[in-house]
Formats: sequence, C-alpha cells, structure tokens
Amino acid sequence: MISDHVEQYLESLRPKREGLMEEMEVYARENHIPIMEQTSLAVMLQLLSFLKPNRILEIGAAIGYSAIRMADLLPETAIITVERDETRYKEAVANIEKAGYSDRITILYGDAFELADELKQYGPYQALFIDAAKGQYQRFFDEFFGVVEEQGIVLSDNILFRGMVAEEEIQEKRFRSMVKKLRQYNEFLMSHPDLYTTIYPIGDGLAVSQRINS
Ligand code: SAH
Ligand code: MG
Repeated sequence: MISDHVEQYLESLRPKREGLMEEMEVYARENHIPIMEQTSLAVMLQLLSFLKPNRILEIGAAIGYSAIRMADLLPETAIITVERDETRYKEAVANIEKAGYSDRITILYGDAFELADELKQYGPYQALFIDAAKGQYQRFFDEFFGVVEEQGIVLSDNILFRGMVAEEEIQEKRFRSMVKKLRQYNEFLMSHPDLYTTIYPIGDGLAVSQRINS
C-alpha cells in the first residue's frame, strides 16, 4: 500500500460486501494471499467495463479473487488465468465453481512461461493483466504482448511496490533486485513507442498501457 490513510479512507466508503467475495477477502487477509487492493482493482474494473473485452488473459490467479470480480462485472467476457502454486490453484478452482463461473473462467495449473503456448491458444485477448512474480514483469510482457489485439490494454499490478520503486534508496536489501526490475519495467512501458501508459499511484501501483500505432 502506498498511501495508507487515503486507502483506509476509501476503504471506509466502500459498500459492505457479503457472501463469497467477503469470505475470500477475509481468507486472503488471514492467509497472506496478495489479492489486488481494492482501489486499484476498482480502477481496473471500471476500465474493463468501458473496454468490454471478449477475452482477458490474467497471469497470477492466486485464489481466483480478481478473476471472479472481473467475471461478475463483465457477463460476456471469458477469462483465462494461470496459477503455479498448487494449493492456491485448487482453492481458485473451488472458488470459481462456487461463484458459478466455471464456464467463463478457465484456470490452468502451472508456470505461465511453461504454459505460454496453451495460454496463447485461447487468444487473441483484448486485455492482459499481469499480477504475478514482480521480478518477471518484463518477461511476462514480452511473452504475451503479441496475443493482445490492437486497441487492447495491458494492466500491470504492483509496479510501485509499497512505494519503494519511487524511493531513492531501498532500505530492505532483499527487495533491491526486484524493485530495480520494476523500475526498468516502468521505464520500458512509459517509453515504448507503441504504448500509451498511465501509472496510477493507488493500491500497490497499477500501470495501464494501451496499444497505439500498432
Ligand atoms: N490476481 C490475484 C492475485 C495474484 S497474487 C488477485 O488479485 O486476486 C500472484 C500469484 O501469482 C501468486 O499466487 C503466485 O503463485 C502466482 N505466480 C507468480 N509467478 C507465476 C508464474 N510464473 N506462473 C504462474 N503463476 C505465478
Ligand atoms: Mg497484485
């Protein structure tokens, strides 16, 4: 989270949830599952509701929370997602079934790079949502950008990583390499001639890149 008190205030305005979504949010909090933060998720969902993509490719399903939120909002959209952690994958499958979206959300079990061919076969996509290992964003982008259609968008979550990406000196050594990679990735997105990128400083940082000139 990059601005605690503002995020908390916005959270307090959010209507009360119930049912499966509430259960999943509590479960994620208690089990340290990094589901997307509500402020950035809200922006992403609103952009997607304007775009009305036929198909979305998500990299990093965790327990299926964001995939279900997208499916809730976009009744005509198919979501293809992937998760490499076996426990989370199984939980995602169960949650997706509970939500009644097994027909619209396809989840594959395994590493996104190893499953790249299969994931691409479900394309082309109008939206690519990268929300997985933060040190690999550039690789995810390079691997999957080719299946994003013209007019499509790429959404990258956590690109400000707790604000550390904007700090001059990164105190915590263990994050240095990852933060450096995120910086390079942000610079890449902002200077790419075929992309128009906006970085939203909400949640953990969300980059929205539109394909242009392609
Ligand atoms: N999008 C989810 C949260 C995803 S958390 C939501 O907001 O609800 C990131 C997930 O990506 C983790 O569960 C992690 O196991 C998974 N992940 C990381 N690298 C991956 C890879 N290379 N292939 C598949 N899954 C990956
Ligand atoms: Mg995330």
